[in-house]
Amino acid sequence: MTCTEIVIVGAGAAGLTAAKELQRLKQDFLLLEASHRIGGRAYTEVLAPNMPFDLGAHWIMEPSRNPLMHLAERELLCVEKDGKHYTAGRYFEDGEWLPEGSERELGAYWDNQFEAMVLAVKGHQDASVFDAIDNDDRWATYFHALYAKDNTRDVDQASVKDALAFVHEEDDLAVASGLGALMVRYGEGVPVMLNSAVRSLDYSGSRLKLNTAKGHIHADKVILTVSNGVLASQGIKFKPDLPNWKLDAIEGLPLGSHTRVALMFDKTVLRELPAHFTVNTSREGPIHFRNQPFGYDYVEIVMGGRVAEWMEKSDQRATVEFVLTKLRDVLGSKAVPYPTHHIVSAWNGDEWVKGAYSSAQPGAADQRSILAQPIDSRIYFAGEATSSTAYASIHGACISGRDAARAAVT
Ligand SMILES: Cc1cc2nc3c(=O)[nH]c(=O)nc-3n(C[C@H](O)[C@H](O)[C@H](O)COP(=O)(O)OP(=O)(O)OC[C@H]3O[C@@H](n4cnc5c(N)ncnc54)[C@H](O)[C@@H]3O)c2cc1C
Repeated sequence: MTCTEIVIVGAGAAGLTAAKELQRLKQDFLLLEASHRIGGRAYTEVLAPNMPFDLGAHWIMEPSRNPLMHLAERELLCVEKDGKHYTAGRYFEDGEWLPEGSERELGAYWDNQFEAMVLAVKGHQDASVFDAIDNDDRWATYFHALYAKDNTRDVDQASVKDALAFVHEEDDLAVASGLGALMVRYGEGVPVMLNSAVRSLDYSGSRLKLNTAKGHIHADKVILTVSNGVLASQGIKFKPDLPNWKLDAIEGLPLGSHTRVALMFDKTVLRELPAHFTVNTSREGPIHFRNQPFGYDYVEIVMGGRVAEWMEKSDQRATVEFVLTKLRDVLGSKAVPYPTHHIVSAWNGDEWVKGAYSSAQPGAADQRSILAQPIDSRIYFAGEATSSTAYASIHGACISGRDAARAAVT
């Protein structure tokens, strides 16, 4: 049996930041990570030699208050500004490109929907995004798909209050060498016990007892940074059970689906395509593409909500075929061979995450601050889902980890 003052559970953005804060405050801690690596939902894979691809987090949001941006600057890494906003791309609809300038119409519709969402909840109860917006407009299907892409749940499942609470003031930036790889650099110097899943937490006595894959640990306090997917599936058993107010918060903030796909081709295949485009067929709805980011010879496809969930339930090959159909709609079937390399994310099936990131159910936006509340001044909660204004992000997870560490030592 091991004894320590503070145990941090999970070495993703929140857990690593909590550990760095405890190091700064010269506090003893153990950081336990269930998997064989650090970084959690920030993870860079290698699509082909010298071609990194982020399976998880990719964009550095709110660079001025994002510790990963400060690190990227210190390391002089190659970064690219966000050109992803749909209103800046081209649109291919039922067999032809829409005229240039159409994107401005979508932009105007998009802005109007956010105004409608503000009005919908002004002085009223929360609503679903679907109930707040104009669904008859010709651009509505684009809004539905692109909203789900960024928020992991479809408009009928997502809370307006939650959507409006997210603070997004600066342009996003991407790192050519991968945000997951940068997260590994961020974690350097932090001692982590890998392959050390916490199975249960007994808080019935005067000391906390954790049963882990590496044996029993006794501690005074614990900072839990595991995803809400892990909490909801009872990946950690609590004794006694968590109180109902905490269970309600967990239930109100489910992780939705968000699939990232890359298809690599010979240089000649992608050169006719714009940098950002969306292909819309009446049968399957709009799918968004980013072409040759950083000059890499692949297209990146990102899907969210039910379509992403279905993609993950079918196999990788079905996802690749689905995306190929869209590309062949645009370029013709002869011009698009099977990709030389491909990769497809699968976060729902990751046993240490169980989903992509949180999206509040209609009526549950206020549960984020409740999820963040400690139990008994001994069990602290951090992680993206606990942030009311920067959920679903790396910087929100980092800030929550730092705050939980500070609270745990006072
Ligand atoms: C596909 C995708 C795209 C995204 N895109 C972006 C983006 O562009 N920009 C952005 O800012 N954010 C993005 N995000 C969100 C961002 O990745 C998350 O908000 C952030 O990484 C969450 O960090 P966390 O520390 O809260 O949780 P996690 O990263 O989930 O870390 C929790 C850790 O706990 C570990 N763990 C789980 N169970 C146990 C256990 N029982 N015992 C011990 N350890 C355990 C896990 O293995 C994991 O390492 C994206 C996420 C996904 C999935």
